[in-house]
Amino acid sequence: MKRTLMEILACPIDKHHPLTLLVFEEKDEIIEGLIVCPECHRWYPIRDEIPEMLPDELRKDAEDLPFLKKWKEQVPEDIVKNGKPFNLKG
Ligand SMILES: [Zn+2]
Repeated sequence: MKRTLMEILACPIDKHHPLTLLVFEEKDEIIEGLIVCPECHRWYPIRDEIPEMLPDELRKDAEDLPFLKKWKEQVPEDIVKNGKPFNLKG
């Protein structure tokens, strides 16, 4: 995704804007990263250049937790332990 997309993205749950962007891999566009809502502590993966802004009921922990685990050294501890809808606490 392009960085400028952040100007229009809002949290699908509470419509909060602006959201926080974490970039893990970037070439012409952001390839892998995380979008964090500072309001509800939800995190959304950017995978293969696509930001996945899905509501909780459409998300699967089996797909999202491995992504969080892969990048956890670069994710703020608060999100790793208390992020929604899934986290790595315990
Ligand atoms: Zn939110």
